[in-house]
Amino acid sequence: RSAPLRPDANATDTDIETQLRPQSLDEFVGQEKIKENLRIFMTAALQRSEALDHVLLSGPPGLGKTTLAYIVANEMAARIRTTSGPVLEKPADIAGVLTNMEEGDVLFIDEIHRLSSVVEEYLYSAMEDYRIDIVIDAGPNARTVQIDLPPFTLIGATTRKGLLTAPLRARFGIDFRYDYYTADLLRQITLRSARILQVDATEDGAYEIARRSRGTPRIANRLLRRTRDFAEVEGDGQITKAIADRALNALDVDEEGLDDMDTRILLTLIENFGGGPTGLKNLAVSVGEDSGTIEEVYEPYLIQEGFLERTPRGRIALPRAYRHFDRTPPKGRGP
Ligand code: ATP
Repeated sequence: RSAPLRPDANATDTDIETQLRPQSLDEFVGQEKIKENLRIFMTAALQRSEALDHVLLSGPPGLGKTTLAYIVANEMAARIRTTSGPVLEKPADIAGVLTNMEEGDVLFIDEIHRLSSVVEEYLYSAMEDYRIDIVIDAGPNARTVQIDLPPFTLIGATTRKGLLTAPLRARFGIDFRYDYYTADLLRQITLRSARILQVDATEDGAYEIARRSRGTPRIANRLLRRTRDFAEVEGDGQITKAIADRALNALDVDEEGLDDMDTRILLTLIENFGGGPTGLKNLAVSVGEDSGTIEEVYEPYLIQEGFLERTPRGRIALPRAYRHFDRTPPKGRGP
């Protein structure tokens, strides 16, 4: 019996991620403040027939930075070129990209905090004056040639805004910070993805996936696809709450959506530091992760969800963390 091919038959995760990407601002769920502002800035730029000002998007991975860059290009009827900080090693790399830009183009640089400092310096005049100075030849024959660039929009994305230098940060006229998505928004995203992938999911089923996706659309989309397998093999193809719960438990997805590093941070805080307060550096060394990454990538979710608190004396584990791991809080810290 041959079933009709689903849109994602044989597709890789990356293909599917592209397929599930919203194409317009209206399809982009959540991040209302960003959308509202962006709409105004884009309309104003279009009315003046100008390129949109440079945009910095910061926030944890998988929240839709790349997606938004494509949407901006779409809505501005512009072409988009994409690259990333680590790929642009030498001045020639960035010069090559910039001199191929056309008026109004969007240049998307992912992981912009990982640009080398020489490349970054090239960007300063490109962003500010649409101009770059290229050094030709070496030694006594070396000379600088100035090249004018058409007005373009640079969209930089970063998970580690704290690592950006002040001069680079200052050259972005528009600066947006992403929030984690609430379970309700993620349910909408999951249901939208289910429709695109032609999977039948109930509201409850989608909600179960959503609330265990760590506030992150990329995770919700991934769990949706894994859960679908269980629905097809163990059920009638429909993703219900019961099926989702069974699938996510089988996949070892935490009841609250915490990942391995979240768990490590909280358990270390509880077990090695008596629940805190302990300084970020101590905690970082104990869990074997860079302190900036803990601060910018992991902690925001744990704080938002009430597992951890930043105090002037250091990090402390909150009652919710103790409850989650079935531990007894020290006296005076109890629920
Ligand atoms: P990274 O920085 O790790 O590349 P990112 O922030 O650029 O991550 P995206 O690649 O844009 O994340 O998004 C990941 C997936 O999540 C995409 O496939 C997209 O379908 C989905 N997604 C992200 N944001 C939204 C949203 N607001 N509405 C619907 N789907 C979304």
